[in-house]
Amino acid sequence: MKVSLQFLGAAHCVTGSKYLLTLARGRQRQQVLIDCGLFQGLKELRLRNREPLPVQPAEIDVVVLTHAHIDHCGYLPKLVRDGFQGRIFCTEPTVDLLSIMLLDSAKLQEEEAAFANAKGFSHHHPATPLYTQADVLRVLPLVESVAYDAPVSLFADALTFCFRDAGHILGSAIAELTVQGAEQRKQLVFSGDLGRYASPVLHDPTAITAADVLLVESTYGDRVTRSQDPEAELVGVVHEALARGGMLVVAAFAVGRTQTLLYYLKKLRQEGRLLLVPVYVDSPMGIRVSDLYPRHPGAHRLGHGNVFDFSGLRFVTEASESKQLNEKKGAAIIISASGMCTGGRIIHHLYHHLPRPEDTLLLIGYQAEGTRGRDLQDGATTVKMFGELVPVRCQVRHLDGFSAHADRQELLRWLGNFTVAPKCTFVVHGEPAAAQALAHTLREKSGWPNVVVPDYLETHVLFEGL
Ligand SMILES: [Zn+2]
Ligand SMILES: [Zn+2]
Repeated sequence: MKVSLQFLGAAHCVTGSKYLLTLARGRQRQQVLIDCGLFQGLKELRLRNREPLPVQPAEIDVVVLTHAHIDHCGYLPKLVRDGFQGRIFCTEPTVDLLSIMLLDSAKLQEEEAAFANAKGFSHHHPATPLYTQADVLRVLPLVESVAYDAPVSLFADALTFCFRDAGHILGSAIAELTVQGAEQRKQLVFSGDLGRYASPVLHDPTAITAADVLLVESTYGDRVTRSQDPEAELVGVVHEALARGGMLVVAAFAVGRTQTLLYYLKKLRQEGRLLLVPVYVDSPMGIRVSDLYPRHPGAHRLGHGNVFDFSGLRFVTEASESKQLNEKKGAAIIISASGMCTGGRIIHHLYHHLPRPEDTLLLIGYQAEGTRGRDLQDGATTVKMFGELVPVRCQVRHLDGFSAHADRQELLRWLGNFTVAPKCTFVVHGEPAAAQALAHTLREKSGWPNVVVPDYLETHVLFEGL
């Protein structure tokens, strides 16, 4: 058997995760796509979403999904529209998240296309969404849930895979694949996105001790983001913002960050460390995702019941109420999405609050290149939205300690679990400096052989004559 791997995304960048694994025996060929993510951020990356894949979607047999972030699952509706009819495997919480995430993604794309057409500022005439909500509905029947630590056999046992908790978001997984050849078996480990150690909300990333081939993410391969005291930092930002008499607008990812933030706000309020100001969660998706936690008590550390509710907290579901928030005066906290300020209700909050010197914008977590969030983090004095240049006069703060990603130290801690170095390691899912920094450490300090930072569309033959 010949086993090869092609990098269809997350190579020298953090989005578009897609790895095509091909098992070839004589004329027989099986193809598995590990993750099926959308490219996001820079325009040159986003344009890749519209290019045809180097493989016919109909020829892919199986998709194995590590988690429900759009940069790992957001290309699925396009894949299905273009002919994929195989099975899609993921954990049970990921199944629940997937419909929420994909429908939201489709809706945003439909709205963006409609808005671009109405305003006439699109370069494609007319603008078309990459996929629609109808396309998403054709994905969902193909999805099958798999429990953590439960192996699944495919292709007459030629391939087995197993999900291990990655501790990154609800339902996130590391995918361990075993390829069974005529005489030998080989272990392939796809880290997915790795979470943090000692998170109050999620479990630690599962230790993996052996692999022949390893793909490891490197989002923070060059940075330590672990805060000594995230609670104190949060209290500091919140009090400073409210002392200015303005509003605090938090751009938080609907999945994960919003819930971690609510966990901390609830704890701080219960301990009397947080001023009694109204807290609005203005993110329909964030609300739906929060409702999933009680359904999957085994997938997090918060236990059963209404894990996020506290007095003063209001979940804003109606769009009209969301708009009314713009007229509210006085101190308050608005938590909205998307986390990188690329779409969603946060946009109209930014439009109103960025020009006000008394207000504060708090960015939580990783801001990818080319996003509004990254521009704001980097000190942009104007940002474009609704086709207008909006001045930035408010305070902009950024807290890295709340990121859902393992930082450099945590990546090295996870990698330190390998008792023997993998025979080949691919460093993926990182911007070039981050990926190279992690690769360098693995080569020079850990002495690992064959550490590669792959290029987009590069193919590697992993095993021949297996
Ligand atoms: Zn992720
Ligand atoms: Zn990711």
